[in-house]
Amino acid sequence: MSDIQQKIIQLREILRKHNHNYYVLDAATISDYEFDVLLKELESLEEQYPEFDDPNSPTQRVGGTITKNFKTVTHKNRMYSLANSYSKEDLQDWETRVKKGLGTDDIQYTCELKYDGASINLTYKKGQLVSAVTRGDGFQGDDATANVKTIRSIPLLLQNPLLENFEIRGEIILPLKGFNKMNEERIEDGFEVYSNPRNTASGSLKLQDSAAVAKRPLDCLLYQVVGDSKYETHSNTLEQARKSGFKVPVAIQVCNSLAEVLKFIDKWDVERHQLDYETDGVVIKVNSLAQQEELGYTAKAPRWAIAYKFKAEQAISKLLSIDYQVGRTGAITPVANLEPVQLAGTIVKRASLHNADQIEKLDIRINDTVFVEKGGEIIPKIVKVNFDKRPIDSKPVDYITHCPDCNTLLVRKEGDAKHYCQNTYGCPTQIKGRIEHFISRKAMNIDGLGGETIGLLFDAGLLNNYADLYELRVEQIIPLERMAEKSAQNIIEGVQESKKIPFEKVLYALGIRFVGETVAKKLARYFKTIEKLMASDFETLIAVDEIGDRIAQSIIDFSNDLLNIQLVDRLKSYGLQFEIDESQSTVQSAILQGKKLVVSGVFTKFSRNELKQSIEDNGGKVSSSISKNTDYLIAGDKMGPAKRTKAESLGVPIISEEEYITLILS
Ligand code: AMP
Ligand code: ZN
Repeated sequence: MSDIQQKIIQLREILRKHNHNYYVLDAATISDYEFDVLLKELESLEEQYPEFDDPNSPTQRVGGTITKNFKTVTHKNRMYSLANSYSKEDLQDWETRVKKGLGTDDIQYTCELKYDGASINLTYKKGQLVSAVTRGDGFQGDDATANVKTIRSIPLLLQNPLLENFEIRGEIILPLKGFNKMNEERIEDGFEVYSNPRNTASGSLKLQDSAAVAKRPLDCLLYQVVGDSKYETHSNTLEQARKSGFKVPVAIQVCNSLAEVLKFIDKWDVERHQLDYETDGVVIKVNSLAQQEELGYTAKAPRWAIAYKFKAEQAISKLLSIDYQVGRTGAITPVANLEPVQLAGTIVKRASLHNADQIEKLDIRINDTVFVEKGGEIIPKIVKVNFDKRPIDSKPVDYITHCPDCNTLLVRKEGDAKHYCQNTYGCPTQIKGRIEHFISRKAMNIDGLGGETIGLLFDAGLLNNYADLYELRVEQIIPLERMAEKSAQNIIEGVQESKKIPFEKVLYALGIRFVGETVAKKLARYFKTIEKLMASDFETLIAVDEIGDRIAQSIIDFSNDLLNIQLVDRLKSYGLQFEIDESQSTVQSAILQGKKLVVSGVFTKFSRNELKQSIEDNGGKVSSSISKNTDYLIAGDKMGPAKRTKAESLGVPIISEEEYITLILS
């Protein structure tokens, strides 16, 4: 084995280990930075020496594969449902059936939590992950391998495989912290929030771009090994799976009686609220694999297992009043004020009512007695009204017709779930919200300014839109509450500094509805200047990859608004970046459509990943090895001599980085 190959293998091993420490054991031993340095080193070696490619290398975690149509795959072993139970009596009945079926009382059970996500079947051959298929109808599912590979806690290569070839099943979940963070970002970008972690997890598996999946904080909890196990019990098999590197939750218990099972259930009915993921029950399984086989299956579910469903924890409260909140985009969200009540370990005083339809659907009225539940969302929800307790004089809720902030008539457009205040430039909450968005970290990242200061500046009449920021003077700020020379100076400096922020972030900062970070980046790269973007018609806009009708219309609305045009003009006059800096970015075109390119060596203008991205952005394909089908070899510094010889012998054109840039700009 060559030194290089050895180095590559060693790096992969080190990274795999750190991945496992971080994502499975939740006990990192190096910093994120150190990890990135190692990963970059491996990335660059792999690209320099594609002959040592490995589809299961840790570098594959970032995704990048596009799946247009997910292949249907027939499961080797059917993925059954589980029978449900809701009470102690149900479980006793099940135990009776099991005992009868086996003709013995000598039975051990395992208790596991029932993870609430999307089930997945992983196939490993010789320690390598070869496929990941969704449950589908139980007989056939979708091949989601490319997407699943991006989930860091799923091992791609096993150091000590528990069996040579096997299938293992688990649940792909979105931990609550990550889910809530995703929703906070959606609110910032003017999108409706995702309704719950389970649907979002299963929706993630259906995304076409695996790089988008890689950005979601998904996790996978394993619960069953399928195949000829050499271990006699389910619990042992899971233990071995854990040792092989899988994330098998520790809350698994072997029980020798139903009484112990019930104890487990009672314990987790309370403690589940401390978990960072949702669980809707406990799964009880016969532990002996031989006994499992003997019991077999009904038409739908194994006889050797049963799910016990927790009762959703509910509290009874009273609806005191409804507040209406105005968002940055003018969207109105009704929020219920409740009589404070204890629920799942916290005191609940407020619950989301989402929109007018929700209020109508629940038929909820002020002073109603209501049932409140807590799911994965940040704020609890009202699930139903106790109509028996409704006061006789109660009246249906009059949904507000005017903005609570500026008193403008609200509008609800077709297809929108919410009402909107359309007084975009006069509604204080919207004005302040837009400025706050503009200065936020992912946008203009203006130091020293926060929501509170924006409020003060607005109230003082110094700030009415984000362009006004650039006209602020130190002596105007100093007299404000809690301001001093130094803090005022900081604000001005932060504002000045923001003029260097690149176009794509400026575009995001403008706060155009539905133009989030990623969309802004796409648009900036495609149109290159704000003029071209704002002058584009609907057809031109939707022709851009990933830009749909809704986004296109929103951009057109923004661009046709005289006030926006003036704002952008002012921002331009202050020197903000409204053009893409060509030296820093790639260009989007179809110039490389159908072409295959190989990248080799080290480059000066691009990192390897940027170069690859650029090829894809221009319609080309990156392949790792040279063949007669290769259209170009882009040669950087330190390219291996073997590569050059091979390209030459196959007649593949070799071009430099500069020649590549000329090519895509032509
Ligand atoms: P159901 O969808 O209600 O029929 O329940 C069956 C599903 O529960 C299975 O397909 C699994 O995806 C899921 N599940 C979650 N946790 C477990 C577990 N610990 N053991 C078995 N199945 C589980
Ligand atoms: Zn308003």
